[in-house]
Amino acid sequence: MAKKANNEPTCSFCGRPAGMGGAFLIPSPFDPSTMICSECVEQVHEIIAEQEKLKADKNKKKVPVGTSIPKPKEIQEFLDQYVIGQDSAKKYLSVAVYNHYKRLSQPTDDEVDIEKSNIILVGPTGTGKTLLAKTIARLLDVPFTIVDATVLTQAGYVGEDIESLLTRLLQAADYDVEAAERGIVFIDEIDKIARKGDNPSITRDVSGEGVQQGLLKLLEGSVVNVPPQGGRKHPEAKMIPVDTKNILFICGGAFDGIDRKIAQRLNSNVVGFSNEIARKNKDKVNFLKHVAPQDLKSFGLIPEIIGRLPILTSLEPLDRDALRNVLTEPKNAIIRQYKKLFKMDGVELEFTDDALDLIVDKAIEYKLGARGLRSIVETIMIDPMFELPSKKTKKFVVDAKFALDKLIEANFETTAAAQQ
Ligand code: ADP
Repeated sequence: MAKKANNEPTCSFCGRPAGMGGAFLIPSPFDPSTMICSECVEQVHEIIAEQEKLKADKNKKKVPVGTSIPKPKEIQEFLDQYVIGQDSAKKYLSVAVYNHYKRLSQPTDDEVDIEKSNIILVGPTGTGKTLLAKTIARLLDVPFTIVDATVLTQAGYVGEDIESLLTRLLQAADYDVEAAERGIVFIDEIDKIARKGDNPSITRDVSGEGVQQGLLKLLEGSVVNVPPQGGRKHPEAKMIPVDTKNILFICGGAFDGIDRKIAQRLNSNVVGFSNEIARKNKDKVNFLKHVAPQDLKSFGLIPEIIGRLPILTSLEPLDRDALRNVLTEPKNAIIRQYKKLFKMDGVELEFTDDALDLIVDKAIEYKLGARGLRSIVETIMIDPMFELPSKKTKKFVVDAKFALDKLIEANFETTAAAQQ
């Protein structure tokens, strides 16, 4: 009974009398002696809203199944909006991701079990490997994480346990295990865990073959006990079991020097074939296009790992035209981002064609690739970004002379040379 000793009616939830803090009491329609105060009603309302939001977020993370999976062509068209070129990688990725999610929606009692299709992308640094993986995750709206293979070490050694990459995925999924079990993990710099030499017994290869063996378990699909906070496994920490069967792994690596191995193989397989091309067009041949599993093996990946990454595709180095397009074409292209920033201050920003050409020239000259484009533009724009918000300027044009002056002023050449 919600009454105080002096018979004053009180809230059955919090025990407060009417009028306290401006609250009033609402009687139950079924039992007028049961009261709830307006404060408690507000709190309950907030709790319900919170729960509904959690439920909605959880549903949002669900992988599309059945008809809602985008078709490979749609995936590729989506990738085209963000990533320049790399048509072959886009095609392979689109098909692999489409099949992966078809596989997720297959009935479990089916006789034909569609096997998992993890992917390995081979291509020089800064050509869009991470960007491709990120864009795919954005389209599918599934938990996604990027892990650097170089921080992983064999259990018991300094570094992170291999399971910690699943910790990151769990964190990306707000610890929703079911969502994480359908997520995507991008393992960057997979080439850095290549076997160091042909005889692993000389010194223990804790960051190479040991890590590959550990990864194998994750790639092939098994239930792994994951430390919720990552880092080293702690005997007392409560582990979260995660089934990796349906997690899509995309690995990326530059595999520096693999082109020579490919060239050698082509040379010995088809006598004269690569000689012929090499003679005609020595610098322009992109041997990476011909990458095959045996090249990864001769680079130092163990055959079991290669077998678990059945989709192998390569990315091309970005040429001048591609770099120029990276600046302006993608939906969130660097130049578009700066234009938006300036627009927020009421300034129309324009880059002349010769300014854009100069930016590309400098990225090529200092071998900075696509990654360097942003730092070049940032160096050019730092002064205008500092000064314009306090001025009444309505339009600002960046031409080649302005761009070059700013780069010289900022000693960009010295800084870029030091980075090489
Ligand atoms: P990596 O191949 O080393 O993983 P990233 O995908 O991280 O390279 O690329 C670095 C940056 O360079 C990206 O954030 C993006 O701005 C730009 N970039 C690289 N390649 C492309 C591309 N093909 N299309 C558009 N932008 C690109």
